Amino acid sequence: MSWRISPAVDDILRKAEDMEGIDAHEAAQLLRLPLCSGEVFAVMEAASRMSRLTFGNKGERHFHIGLNVEPCRFDCAFCSLTRTAGAFVEKVEFPEEQIVAWAREAEATGADALNLMTTGAYSFERLLEIGRLLGRAVSTPLVANTRDITHKEGERLLQAGYVGCYHSVRLGEGRDTPFDPELRKRTIAVFRDVGLLWMNCVEPAGPEHTPEEIAGLMVLAREMGAVYSGVMRRINFPGSPKEPEGMINEREMARMVAVSRLVMGAAARAHCTHEPNAVSLLAGANLVFPEVGSSPRDREADTGKGRGSSNASCAALLREVGLDPALPSNCFGPAPERRSQDPGCPSRL
Ligand code: SF4
Repeated sequence: MSWRISPAVDDILRKAEDMEGIDAHEAAQLLRLPLCSGEVFAVMEAASRMSRLTFGNKGERHFHIGLNVEPCRFDCAFCSLTRTAGAFVEKVEFPEEQIVAWAREAEATGADALNLMTTGAYSFERLLEIGRLLGRAVSTPLVANTRDITHKEGERLLQAGYVGCYHSVRLGEGRDTPFDPELRKRTIAVFRDVGLLWMNCVEPAGPEHTPEEIAGLMVLAREMGAVYSGVMRRINFPGSPKEPEGMINEREMARMVAVSRLVMGAAARAHCTHEPNAVSLLAGANLVFPEVGSSPRDREADTGKGRGSSNASCAALLREVGLDPALPSNCFGPAPERRSQDPGCPSRL
């Protein structure tokens, strides 16, 4: 063998495989490993095996529908839907018929969830109406992705048919955004208090984020009970104020995805990566997001005509890495039981 795993990394991998979840210091150590080293492959292999033991060969698709486009006054530096980005000058709400058609198509093509995203100042009442509307149209679980909320608002989301919320303390929160990270955490606590599932991603990862900042958010996800928490990289849309910082590549994201899988341990019901990519699916991820409607990574109003991947192409990607999109979701029923044996990867389409 031409490479060795150091005793320190070996100790972390053994701890991870007990599904205890590694700590922030250990995660930061792994995030610093040289990208092409055998040790990074060992971390990815451990993460992938942990996911098969917990999720079997399930490949999840949570279908993103961005409900509206507007020049958002909050001006988060990484987002294309801002006033300063200038991509969108008018408010546009996608019509109900279009939203229902997207949701029905997602259900017909086997999506495991619908993630309904809004810009920061979108009407909360309208989000409730859309939940009720889609609850009558489809049976796919509904997940809201919106602003910080109160307990009362969390209860109303549940009553309107939502089963969970996507929400994160973003990398650079309070620096690249006007939001207080403590307020974001309070909202996440609201989900737990009222019985909404919490979905998370460490995002939007870029070259400027330190291993300590990234590792801290990975551990926060485990400690606050995320259903899933993988990694999404920042996409620099043309003209993004983040362009001078560059972007990480998919291989760097896969290293983070693997480390975050080790952090999550037994707590994870799935493990996400975005945008959809094969290398992260070999590093413990089993959840991708097809996209239509608005997207903070796109200058197209409907990202289904831009950067967004379709439900069908995401299913094909999952199958290419040996995951099965047709199996039932692990995210919304009872927590998956850990298998005693690795089911292995099917090798035939
Ligand atoms: S991330 Fe959300 S709140 Fe921030 S600018 Fe974009 S749409 Fe507005």
